[in-house]
Amino acid sequence: MDSKIKLVKGDITKIEVDAIVNAANSSLLGGGGVDGAIHRAGGEAILNDCIAIRNRQGGCKTGEAVITTAGKLPAKYVIHTVGPVYSGDKAEKEQLLAKAYSNSLQLAVENNIKTIAFPNISTGIYHFPKPKAAEIAVATVRDFLDNDEGITEVIFVCFDDENYSLYDDLLKAT
Ligand code: ADP
Repeated sequence: MDSKIKLVKGDITKIEVDAIVNAANSSLLGGGGVDGAIHRAGGEAILNDCIAIRNRQGGCKTGEAVITTAGKLPAKYVIHTVGPVYSGDKAEKEQLLAKAYSNSLQLAVENNIKTIAFPNISTGIYHFPKPKAAEIAVATVRDFLDNDEGITEVIFVCFDDENYSLYDDLLKAT
């Protein structure tokens, strides 16, 4: 289902889709990297929703996802997922990264979201090796789209050249 997958280089806060995905941390209170960029550009409405979720369920566990408004962003929603920190049991971390992608997509379907953009989860501050992370992201999204009718477009938004070229190679290969 690669006809539904697109690759873009740039800033995810600028992408016009139903939902952008945030590589959040489990506190949901904002951080650096893409998380900081999303909260800065989207304004306080996103943080207010995150605080309400925290008060209700105590944050978000690694591999899980929650949804908020997108505030001032061109997207309608932000899906916050928590990728794994790459240390300790590597096989477990690989599974958790796949879950971050699949749970975000599942939450998107439940909210009638058709178009969704992902950053390269865990490949910044969380130090997941970029080639392995890209492989997991592409395989998990392909697998999900093979079994789903609701999502019409998945955009991988790469902020750096290395990730862009890794995704480009993977998406060219069948
Ligand atoms: P994590 O803690 O999950 O590693 P980071 O935000 O540190 O999250 O990094 C995840 C990825 O997001 C990195 O590849 C980083 O280059 C990228 N990134 C940072 N800012 C942006 C942005 N504005 N748009 C898209 N991707 C971004």
